[in-house]
Amino acid sequence: MHHFDRIDGALHAETVPLETLAGAVGTPAYVYSTATLTRHYGLFREAVDTHRGSLGDALIAFAVKANSNLSVLATLARLGCGADTVSEGEIRRALKAGVSGQRIVFSGVGKTDAELAFALEARVRQINVESAVELDRLIAVAAAKGAAPEIAIRVNPKIGAGGHARITTGGATDKFGVPAEEAPALYARAAASPHVTPVGLACHIGSQITTLEPLEGAFRALREMTLALRAGGLAVSRLDLGGGLGVPYHGQTDLPSIADYVGMAARVLDGLEVEAAFEPGRLLAANAGVLLSRVIQVNARSDGRTFLVLDAGMNDLMRPALYDAFHDVVAVRERPGEVGAYDLVGPICESTDVFARERRLPPLEAGDLVAFMGAGAYGAVLASEYNSRPLVPEVLVDGDRWAVVRSRPSYDEMWSREPKADWLG
Ligand SMILES: *Cc1c(COP(=O)(O)O)cnc(C)c1O
Repeated sequence: MHHFDRIDGALHAETVPLETLAGAVGTPAYVYSTATLTRHYGLFREAVDTHRGSLGDALIAFAVKANSNLSVLATLARLGCGADTVSEGEIRRALKAGVSGQRIVFSGVGKTDAELAFALEARVRQINVESAVELDRLIAVAAAKGAAPEIAIRVNPKIGAGGHARITTGGATDKFGVPAEEAPALYARAAASPHVTPVGLACHIGSQITTLEPLEGAFRALREMTLALRAGGLAVSRLDLGGGLGVPYHGQTDLPSIADYVGMAARVLDGLEVEAAFEPGRLLAANAGVLLSRVIQVNARSDGRTFLVLDAGMNDLMRPALYDAFHDVVAVRERPGEVGAYDLVGPICESTDVFARERRLPPLEAGDLVAFMGAGAYGAVLASEYNSRPLVPEVLVDGDRWAVVRSRPSYDEMWSREPKADWLG
């Protein structure tokens, strides 16, 4: 579900025509819908509240890496959403956007001592420890500060899942989390230290997961481990279930709903008397954003291939080049006429700068606008200035209002970050 619909043949973000935004801000540009973010968070909140008996006072912590724009974060923060963070920068962003430290979870395989110290100062709710060696470093950092942070041990349940091998995190060879067989001993070790307070277990097995089975398997593994730890006299009061539920990039109608997913979690956790946490990223943000792009030229080659050369490139939207990801691409203004097969490419000097092959689209001409749907997660956050292209701007729409929430830098701004070495005169 999203709020990008056609009104009189022209695609709108809520009630704002995308043509208006393209004219005002230029292209390429990301456009986000407040109503869509609000709707997705609301559905999640409603599902979680329905199962309060099994899930406790559950935290929904948006995975900031999916879309870390400050206004997007502030939109979610105002609804009561927390933040799942993986760096000091993300903790700082969440705080700046108005998320209280008590709603921030700090995850990640490679937190530096400085980042751990910062997380303690920010009094984050929970640090998810991903290895024995990290636990030792955290104990040392916390001891130096006289702190005893609440932690969860991130377990790798050896159930990898996800829409692509490159977005699987819970497999046996993945770098994430503590192997399930080592986790109980590590938990006991943490409990014996006066410098950390183990409160629970965490998992996150992958992204763009389109069936509930692997997630259920991972949640059951956490349940069993909780019972085993308790049998050994250890307290476990929280289970952090991670993110990973997929979205219908292909318009699929058979994906598990938010209610199905949360209901499954509630069944698995029922009777454990734990407080659950969820870390959705893609689920909240993907369909809340589009990437607007203009056709530079239509290159109809004599070999029969027709290249639609767009002003957006892989530096603006990396998912297709990085994980062969599919984005639906639509003409912003409806065009009558015969549908053709286009290869959608960007202007970057890389052969991976291809968004799609032989995509069926109405007849398009230079200057026409297209929208990449489902681009609100892992879109702008992965953008770069490769080929010296200014970083793609971001616009937030709310009803009939809109604001540029990240501006396109001028060339002078780009150069200003590169002081010339003094010996070069
Ligand atoms: C990336 C990530 C998420 C969010 O994943 P989605 O697939 O976007 O829901 C949640 N938790 C952790 C630890 C992550 O690294």
